[in-house]
Amino acid sequence: MADAPHQAPAIAVHHLVKRYGDATAVNGISFAVERGDFFGFLGPNGAGKTTTINAIVGLARVDGGRIEVFGRDVSTAWRKARRLIGLAPQEYNFDRYLRVREILFYQAGYYGLRPRDVTTRVDALLERFGLSAKADAFVAQLSGGMKRRLTLARALVHDPQIVILDEPTAGVDVELRLELWETLRALRREGKTIVLTTHYIEEAEALCERIGIIESGRMVALETTEGLLRSHARDELTITLAHPLQAPPPMLAHFSARLDPENACRLRFERLSPLQLSEALALLGREGIDVEAVNTERATLQDVFLALTGRGAR
Ligand code: ATP
Repeated sequence: MADAPHQAPAIAVHHLVKRYGDATAVNGISFAVERGDFFGFLGPNGAGKTTTINAIVGLARVDGGRIEVFGRDVSTAWRKARRLIGLAPQEYNFDRYLRVREILFYQAGYYGLRPRDVTTRVDALLERFGLSAKADAFVAQLSGGMKRRLTLARALVHDPQIVILDEPTAGVDVELRLELWETLRALRREGKTIVLTTHYIEEAEALCERIGIIESGRMVALETTEGLLRSHARDELTITLAHPLQAPPPMLAHFSARLDPENACRLRFERLSPLQLSEALALLGREGIDVEAVNTERATLQDVFLALTGRGAR
């Protein structure tokens, strides 16, 4: 097969459709993940994230559309595509009769790596993921956090270009979550293309450069993280007054001040420059309205997610 064009994205999904019986799990979504990108795939439960990932890695037969990995159609070049991708699935699917080291060896064998290279690689991964002391343990003897780390180590055994992680931090404690974030950032610095699904909005905000939000099998947003925050959520500024008001003070009308419906001591503003803020404070002072505090609330992806899907996230 001729080499794919150099500029082809790491992953390109065109009008993907996947049905289960009468139900449409993925309804014509399209998106691309550029090489070296850190892409976050968000959406509520059942939105179609795992189905899309399974289609990309060739675990699910698709009913429509096309998927390319580095410019190659995965339906015809699935073996090559599979070699370029490391998948850390959501569910643990380890063989419980294998030991940790064997799990990594078997995975390497699946990709046809030479035994001599595999030993070095497996040892390095066990070390990197803090599993060296558990190399001869069975999976049942690992903690939840260790199983998560093993999932990631196994995904990396064949040194793939793309790493896809389906909810890599589900159910782990805060310490391990931060540790996994560091590992993912390090992989990104090493030049890997990373795709992550998550329910944790702060995780996507902390890690991802671009984000796709999927809802009921359709893509409802596809943008840079910054762009999403800019276009769908605004920072808010609040001035807390010493005494409640009946209505926003008329002299602040041109700043679009709103009175908080739940707290009549609180005036809310969308975007106020430092100059406008000092002007607003001076105007309040002139009217004899005492100010107790000024706060800014930074818009978060949680706001964006709520605005676009109408549902909360963890
Ligand atoms: P979650 O965040 O809960 O993991 P998700 O966004 O990954 O959700 P999917 O697992 O892709 O969602 O599921 C999308 C839809 O497809 C859901 O309605 C689900 O019930 C359905 N579905 C997924 N796998 C199957 C299957 N093997 N057979 C039938 N329906 C399925």
